[in-house]
Amino acid sequence: MDTALGDGAALSDGAAELLRRLRGGRPVTRAGVGAETGWARATVNARLDELLATGLVVDAGVRGGSRGRPAGRFVFNAARGGLLIADVGASAARLAHCDLGGGICSQTTVDLDIRDGPDRVLELVTSGLASLPTRDELPAWAMGMSLPGPVEHPTGRIVSPPMMTGWDGVTVPALLEPRLGVPVLVENDVNAMVWGEHVLAEEPLDDLLLVKVGTGIGAGLVTHGQILRGARGSAGDLGHTHTAGDVTDREPPLCRCGKLGCLEAYAGGWALARDLVDDGLEVADVRDVVAALQAGDPRAVRRVREAGRVLGIGIADAVSLLNPSEVVVSGGLAVAGEHLLSGIRERVAAFSLPLATTGLRIRVSSRPHDVGVVGMADLVARWALDPARVNDVLARVGAPT
Ligand SMILES: [Zn+2]
Repeated sequence: MDTALGDGAALSDGAAELLRRLRGGRPVTRAGVGAETGWARATVNARLDELLATGLVVDAGVRGGSRGRPAGRFVFNAARGGLLIADVGASAARLAHCDLGGGICSQTTVDLDIRDGPDRVLELVTSGLASLPTRDELPAWAMGMSLPGPVEHPTGRIVSPPMMTGWDGVTVPALLEPRLGVPVLVENDVNAMVWGEHVLAEEPLDDLLLVKVGTGIGAGLVTHGQILRGARGSAGDLGHTHTAGDVTDREPPLCRCGKLGCLEAYAGGWALARDLVDDGLEVADVRDVVAALQAGDPRAVRRVREAGRVLGIGIADAVSLLNPSEVVVSGGLAVAGEHLLSGIRERVAAFSLPLATTGLRIRVSSRPHDVGVVGMADLVARWALDPARVNDVLARVGAPT
C-alpha cells in the first residue's frame, strides 16, 4: 500500500491492523498490545506513533500500578470524525449523525414512501441529514444506508425489489456519493438490524437470527460473528419461503412478489391488514394492525397469534438449518410481544431438534426502533476504517487540528 499519501498522516498496513484492534474502545498500554499481538516493542511503538499522528488514537492518561512505573494508555478516538446513517423503511427513515465509534450524536425521523422511487427518497434523506444539529461538529467520513429490499453486496445495487417501485438496478452509492462528498455503504435493512443486535449484546452473541416482522418479513443472520450474506447478498429471504402452506388449510394467498403461499402472504403486516379488513376492521397498514392489537380488539389478537404460529414454522426451519443461540423478533409488529412470540416458541419447540432448541432464546428486540441505526453505524465505521479505505479518508479529511 502507498503510505506516502497527502499530509503524511497515511497509515501502514500494520498500523491499520492495530487500529482495527483498538476500535472496540478499550484503553490499552504498549505492553498490552505487545502481549496480545506478539509484535516486537519497536513495532508496537512505530504503529502506535502512526495512529497518534492521525488523531484516530489519543493518549488516555496513565494507569497507576502498585509496582514499577505507571504505564501510559491509549484509546481509539471516536470523536475524530462523524458518520451519516439512514435506516430507510417502507414508510419512514430514521436518520442519524454518529461518531466513529457508532455513538449517536443526533437523530431524526422523516416520513417517506419508498415507492416514490430513488430521486424523491434520496432527496428526503439528504435534506434530512443536512438538518441534523450536530452534523458540523464532527464532519462525516462516510455514510451508511440500509434499504428494505435486496441489495447486491458489495456494489450497493438494488436487484428486483418486490416493493420498491423504480429502484430496480439502481446503484445507490453512485447517486449519493456525488451529493454527499463521502463514500457510501449500502446494506439490506435486516442485515443492519441483526448486526445491531450483535453489537449491543452484553455477552458475545455470534450465532443469531433476526426476523423482521413489519409490512413484510425478512431475516438477517450472523454466524460465527459475521453477517451471512450468501453469494450475492440475498440470504435470509424468509418472507418468501413456502413451508407455511403445509400447516394451514387455507388456499395459498397471493404474495406481493407474485407467487402463491409465501410466508409473508400469511403473516406479514400487509397480509394481516388484508385479513382484518375481511374480519370487518378498518385497517390500512401495519400501524393500524398494531393499534387494533393494542386496543385489545379480539380479531386483531386472533390474527396476530395465528401469524405467530405460521411464522414459527418458517423460523423452526431456519433454526434447524442454522442452529442460532438466539432468535430476535424486530420490526413494526415486534411490539405485539407475547401475542407473536408464543406461537413462534410453540412451533420451534415442536419442529426443531432438541440439540438446536436447548438453550435457544427467543425474544423481541430491546431496541426495535433504532437497532438498525446501531448496526449500520458499526458496519460503516468498520468499512471506512478498513485498511483498504482509511488512507483515502485520511487524505480527504486532513491532519487533526
Ligand atoms: Zn412472496
